[in-house]
Amino acid sequence: MLLPFDPECPPEEPPANADPLTWSMAYQLHRDHQPGPDGFCVAVTCRAGFAFWPCEPAKLAGAGLIEALDMWSVAAPPSREPRTGFSGGRGGGGAPAAPWR
Ligand SMILES: [Zn+2]
Repeated sequence: MLLPFDPECPPEEPPANADPLTWSMAYQLHRDHQPGPDGFCVAVTCRAGFAFWPCEPAKLAGAGLIEALDMWSVAAPPSREPRTGFSGGRGGGGAPAAPWR
């Protein structure tokens, strides 16, 4: 998947075709959940639980940034069909992995 941004360092401003609200929420999450020098997430909530980075919120941020793009790439479908490719769909059963990890 070719992304119009660097997943390690996404821009604060959403790309031209991204949903601004989804992007800004995901970006905030991305900024708050960064790896510390000790390998743990620097967010206070993650530190309290000794969560290694990438923590679940960091993975969610990555998925959110991609979702922000995906929302506009599907040209306003009239039906609400479940999308595929977000967290692997069927099978798996585990926690969704960040798509680029
Ligand atoms: Zn975290």
